[in-house]
Amino acid sequence: MNKKKDFLRTIVENDLKSGKYKEIVTRFPPEPNGFPHIGHAKSISINFGIARDYNGHCNLRMDDTNPTKEDTKYVQALEDAVKWLGFDWGDKIYFTSDYFSQIYDYAIELIKMGKAYVDSLTEEEIREYRGTVTQPGKRSKYAQRSVEENLDLFERMKNGEFKDGEHVLRAKIDMSAANMKMRDPLLYRIRHAHHFRAGDEWSIYPMYDFAHCLSDYIEGVTHSICTLEFENNRDIYDWVLDTLELKPPRPYQYEFARLNINYTVMSKRKLLELVEGNYVNGWDDPRLPTIAGYRRRGYTPESILNFCDQIGIAKANSVVDVAQLEFCIRDDLNPKVPRVMCVLDPIKVTIENYEGSEDIDAPYYPHDVPKEGSRKIPFSKELYIERADFEENPPKDYFRLTPEQAVRLRHGYIISCKEIVKDNNGNITEIKAEYYPESKSGAEDTSGIKVKSAIQWVSAVDAKRVEIRLYDRLFKNEAPEGIEDLNPNSLQIIKNAFIEPAVIMEKPDERFQFERQGYFYADPIDYSDENPVFNKIVGLKDSWTKKTKTKTKQAVSKPQAKKVQIDGEVTPMTDEQKILFEKYTNDFKLNSEVSNTLARDKFLSNFFEDALCAFNCPVSISNIVVNEVARELKQVQAEELKFSAEHISQLAKMIDTDTISGKIAKQVFEEMTKTGENPTQIVETKGLLQISDPAEISPIIDEVISKNPDNVAKFKAGNTKLLGFFVGQVLKTTGGKANPKVVNELVAQKLK
Ligand code: ATP
Ligand code: MG
Repeated sequence: MNKKKDFLRTIVENDLKSGKYKEIVTRFPPEPNGFPHIGHAKSISINFGIARDYNGHCNLRMDDTNPTKEDTKYVQALEDAVKWLGFDWGDKIYFTSDYFSQIYDYAIELIKMGKAYVDSLTEEEIREYRGTVTQPGKRSKYAQRSVEENLDLFERMKNGEFKDGEHVLRAKIDMSAANMKMRDPLLYRIRHAHHFRAGDEWSIYPMYDFAHCLSDYIEGVTHSICTLEFENNRDIYDWVLDTLELKPPRPYQYEFARLNINYTVMSKRKLLELVEGNYVNGWDDPRLPTIAGYRRRGYTPESILNFCDQIGIAKANSVVDVAQLEFCIRDDLNPKVPRVMCVLDPIKVTIENYEGSEDIDAPYYPHDVPKEGSRKIPFSKELYIERADFEENPPKDYFRLTPEQAVRLRHGYIISCKEIVKDNNGNITEIKAEYYPESKSGAEDTSGIKVKSAIQWVSAVDAKRVEIRLYDRLFKNEAPEGIEDLNPNSLQIIKNAFIEPAVIMEKPDERFQFERQGYFYADPIDYSDENPVFNKIVGLKDSWTKKTKTKTKQAVSKPQAKKVQIDGEVTPMTDEQKILFEKYTNDFKLNSEVSNTLARDKFLSNFFEDALCAFNCPVSISNIVVNEVARELKQVQAEELKFSAEHISQLAKMIDTDTISGKIAKQVFEEMTKTGENPTQIVETKGLLQISDPAEISPIIDEVISKNPDNVAKFKAGNTKLLGFFVGQVLKTTGGKANPKVVNELVAQKLK
């Protein structure tokens, strides 16, 4: 088994070992009153997953006891979801409504045992009589009805002789039970309603608490796994099965924490509101957390199941960061899907020194070289590039095309800008460029021209027009209350994006990485040859977390969110990042981990390079930036940093010149984050200069040695590990100011 054992699997294994059950039977029991969501996916993966792992089986059961809200279209959606996630429910689907007669017979039995009675209080009276958590309830006078009277009334209830609400059937348990649910719970109510399967046969319908345990029993379920809100219902579950003295083995109920995700709503009721109010386009709107929505958006079953595995099965409710789900889909698609080019916001580039056309051979899987598959990208005089990949007045860290800076066309040539054409309003309408014939990507590049990045492009005459649907979070708040929290920009439709022709003509896959843009999926419903539509599945990296960093920190606790931070390792680097990474490892000799962190973070890499200007010592500066500065940035926004790159440079210099010890440097850094004072100043005023002079250190060592005769004896007897003890004592005595290297040497000498 590939899964680590959770508490449910532990129970199941023990039950098999003890021989309590011969075969494990679980069930997934949704009410068909809406489309299933990611929370259901979790329940599906638990119930079907356990059955699979222990060679048992899992029933798909529609819990259809509420005729007014249920519908066959929801049954279909539930079947689709389970199937799509890759599970098999065997020969047939079960329906609670199939057991209506059996459940009715069990009710009669309870009445005959004097354990159930027909109550005729009004709904309000029933509520009133129930009492409160601190006060016991009071039993209805109708509880004294004789068995005969109860049987008669119950039958007439079934025959439709009474109006809705006139009578109910209740279990006779205990009106002063501490568990309020046990205060004579309702077993049946009258509902003159048409049932989507049972038709008009029934005028009474069993309540969840009565129908569920009996359905489980009838089906031979062993482990009835549900969510925590049913914890208090467990007593009724047990009471019904025990009171009826049903032949063993019988099922038992176990609860786990339901899945909650931030930035969305999950209950079917709230989802129905969004669908019916046309706030979204149907149950399969790619912004919804429904399984149909994720599926249409382009999520894979694997990614959803991985997510369910990752979050585990807990016993306490919590909110999972949606970024973790997004991590899972990225993680799944990254190795698999072809890389292609699409320009979402095109601007025309005319290459003035190019005539004719050619096809450039480019691999679909440049990230996975042994994997075969390539296409031809037509190249010609007129291209489209992304509007944002050109800047007339670029900021300092801009690596793409500018009037002064050349750029590589991915898989193609290097171009530079010759002229900018603008309309009357000053908007750029065209860039006239020049290409370097010797610069064709790969082995053929003999141009010697260095560029800082490569950008996507398409040939204007050959590219295909496509529609792109970009999705953002449906709600703007982490814990949305309702429609007032909807994110007005959750859907953006781009009608005129341009994609390289092979994507449309060859259809190498349904899912793609559009280089530098994200992962996309050919919409399974609206895609047509006339109007190819692609949905954005997810971006290349988690950009949202950063934007709302300070806000999320205080709001919902994110016990799981940490895992998302490995994000950087799996997302492929952009070309721009790769260039930086090369520079850091090759030119600056930084280790690959540090280089990786810097290359992937614009702010940190800029900060690092700025610090280098003041003192050229890449290794120590990069260490401070990647560790200390990065940590500080988890607490405050970049604009709120109290220190400058120059300060970090000074700090590194003091470490490199042995002015202060590494330990003191941390202390100085702490001070810098609070006061913004420059580090040289801090070291001076606090007297933190490193002590490297043996004459100054020697007497301190002597003192430590004389105070610890026992350890000296042990050291001399061969326990060399104690060297660290002595060094530590000396460092402590000097408040961390002694130069550890010097102390080490001196201590070793003295103890010889
Ligand atoms: P909703 O409130 O969304 O309507 P529900 O609990 O009423 O959900 P059902 O269709 O009755 O949904 O539930 C089917 C199964 O799925 C139940 O066992 C339920 O416990 C489980 N389930 C529902 N929501 C979640 C969730 N968010 N996390 C885990 N399991 C869930
Ligand atoms: Mg429900």
